[in-house]
Amino acid sequence: MYPFRYESARDLNQLGSGVAGTEFLGGGTDLMQLMKDNVRRPDRLIDISALPSLDTIEFNGVLKIGALARMSDVGEHAAVKEQYPVISQALLASASPQVRNMARIGGNLLQRTRCVYFRDQAGACNKRVPGSGCSAIGGENRMHAVLGGSDHCVATHASDLAVALVALDAVVVTHRPQGGRRIALENFHLLPGDTPQIENVLEPGELIVAIEVPASPLARRSLYRKVRDRASFEFALASAAVALTVADGKIRAARIALGGVGTKPWRARDAEAALAGQPAEQSAFEAAAALALAGAKPLEQNGFKIQLAQRNLVRALQSAVG
Ligand code: SF4
Repeated sequence: MYPFRYESARDLNQLGSGVAGTEFLGGGTDLMQLMKDNVRRPDRLIDISALPSLDTIEFNGVLKIGALARMSDVGEHAAVKEQYPVISQALLASASPQVRNMARIGGNLLQRTRCVYFRDQAGACNKRVPGSGCSAIGGENRMHAVLGGSDHCVATHASDLAVALVALDAVVVTHRPQGGRRIALENFHLLPGDTPQIENVLEPGELIVAIEVPASPLARRSLYRKVRDRASFEFALASAAVALTVADGKIRAARIALGGVGTKPWRARDAEAALAGQPAEQSAFEAAAALALAGAKPLEQNGFKIQLAQRNLVRALQSAVG
C-alpha cells in the first residue's frame, strides 16, 4: 500500500473544490480492491459514507434514489419493484448479496471495467496507463465489447443498473461548489475514443448525489434479462433492459438498452423506433434485435455475443409483452 490522505466528510460543503487525485469513498466495494491492486492511487480519499440524507429512496411521481442508498435496499424497495421492475431486477442480478449490502448506487454507476488487463499490472492498458496500448484487442477478448469500441479500448461497461436506468431516461444529479448539474444518464458515460481513461463527464471533485427516474406506464411494464457464465456473482455476457406500452396487440412505445456488449450502457434507439406501431410479435422483435446490433464489430473471440444479445433481446421483449 502507498501513503494517501484520508478525510471523512460530514457535510457537502466540506468537500471543497475538486483537485485531480481526489477520490470519494462510499461503499468501497470497487475502489478498495483497485487501490489494493495499485490500479487507482488517489492522493486524497474523502469518505462520504457519513454524509446525511444521501441514502434515501423516495417515490413521489418521480423516483429519487440517493447516491449512498445501498444496492440491496433499492432492489428490494416496494415502489421500485412495483413501478420500475427493470431497476429492481437489474440490481438483484448484480454481484452477490454481500456486495449488494455494501455497494452504493452512485458508486455502481462509476465502477470500473472488469477487463482483466485493466486490473492486472502485467498487461498494457490505455485505460490504466494512457498511451501504453491495449492488450485485449489481440488478446483475451471474449468478454469485451462489440459496440462502441475504438482502436484504443474495447472494454465493456460493467453496471447492470446503468443499463436499466438508461432505458428509463434517468437523470444524474450532482454537487459542485459552483452549483450542481442534472445530466441525462445516456450522456453521462463516454465512449472510449482515444481517451479511454476518461469514462464519464464528471469534473474533478464533482459528486453524484442522486439519481432521478420519471414514472411512466413504460417503466411499470419493464424487465431486465441477463445472460452470464454462471447464475450468481458474474457480469453480463449480454443483457437487455426493455420497457413497453402495448395496446390492442400493438406496441405503442418501447425503450431498449443493452449491457455486456457495449463500452457504455447502450441505448438502442433505432430498435425502439422500429418497434413503435408494430404488432407485438416475434417478427417485430427479431427485426428490432437485428437493428440493435447492426453496428456491432466483433473481436476474435466475442463474435458469439452478437447473436446472443439479439436472442436475449427477443426473449426479453417476449417476456415483457407476455
Ligand atoms: Fe485496457 Fe480497455 Fe484495452 Fe482492456 S480493453 S486492456 S481496459 S484499454
